Amino acid sequence: MHTMKQTVRKESVRCKVCGTINTFLYLSDFSYGQRLLLLDDGQHYALADLLQDNVWDEYYKTAEEIVKQSSVTYSDERLREFVNQTFGVTCDRINDQSVAAPQRQKRCSRCDALDWEPYLTEPEKTDVMAFPVVTHEGWRQLPSGEQRKIVF
Ligand SMILES: [Zn+2]
Repeated sequence: MHTMKQTVRKESVRCKVCGTINTFLYLSDFSYGQRLLLLDDGQHYALADLLQDNVWDEYYKTAEEIVKQSSVTYSDERLREFVNQTFGVTCDRINDQSVAAPQRQKRCSRCDALDWEPYLTEPEKTDVMAFPVVTHEGWRQLPSGEQRKIVF
C-alpha cells in the first residue's frame, strides 16, 4: 500500500460518555489539494491526493451531470459538499475498512460514542504522519452506469 507523509493538526477531546481522551487529526490549511478521509471505524485515516487522483474530478463531473439533468436546484457549494461527503464510495477498502466521508462523526476508541466535550483538553499540536493513500481500482472497473447507481 502506498503511503504519504503529511503534516496534521492533532486535537484532543474528551468523550462525554466515558471520559476517555481521543485525539483526532486535521490537515493544516496549507495542504492544498488533499483530503484526509476517516475510515469506517471513525478512528483511522487515509489521504486522498487530489492533484494525482483524477477520480475526484470525474466524480464531481458525474454528480454535476446528474444534477443538471434532474430538476433539482443545486448550488455549486452544495454539490461540492455532497461530493466531499460521499467521495468514500469511490475508494477501495483500506485495512479491510471502507473509507468514509471526511465529515463522518468521530467515534470514541473506548465506548464508540459520538459525543464530545466542546473544548480541547490540551493545546493542539502538529505532527508529521504517514497515511495510506486511497485508490479506486474497484470503482474504475465499474461501468459508468453502475457508478451512477451507487452515487444516487
Ligand atoms: Zn467514550
